Amino acid sequence: MAQRLKHTPERTCVVCRQKAAKRSLIRLVRTPDQGVQVDPSGKRNGRGAYLCHQPACWQRALQGDALAKALRTTLTAEDRARLQAAALQFAILKDEAS
Ligand SMILES: [Zn+2]
Repeated sequence: MAQRLKHTPERTCVVCRQKAAKRSLIRLVRTPDQGVQVDPSGKRNGRGAYLCHQPACWQRALQGDALAKALRTTLTAEDRARLQAAALQFAILKDEAS
């Protein structure tokens, strides 16, 4: 980097393609042995993808294949359940079952 300007790192939500500051997106990472995990620290090794806080993006990520494609994997039922739990934890999705 030749320039030393302050730069806010931006990432793109893999579903809606909106750019946002890296910190305002949620990183998901494909781990070699634990499937797809939410990575709040943003520092885990592995192929990562970002989602914004819109419920529709998480729903589409869970139901469609945009996230799986971005991570170059397929989501197992376990992965989906884990991500859904994370979305509930972050109050992105509401628990409709209860
Ligand atoms: Zn989005």
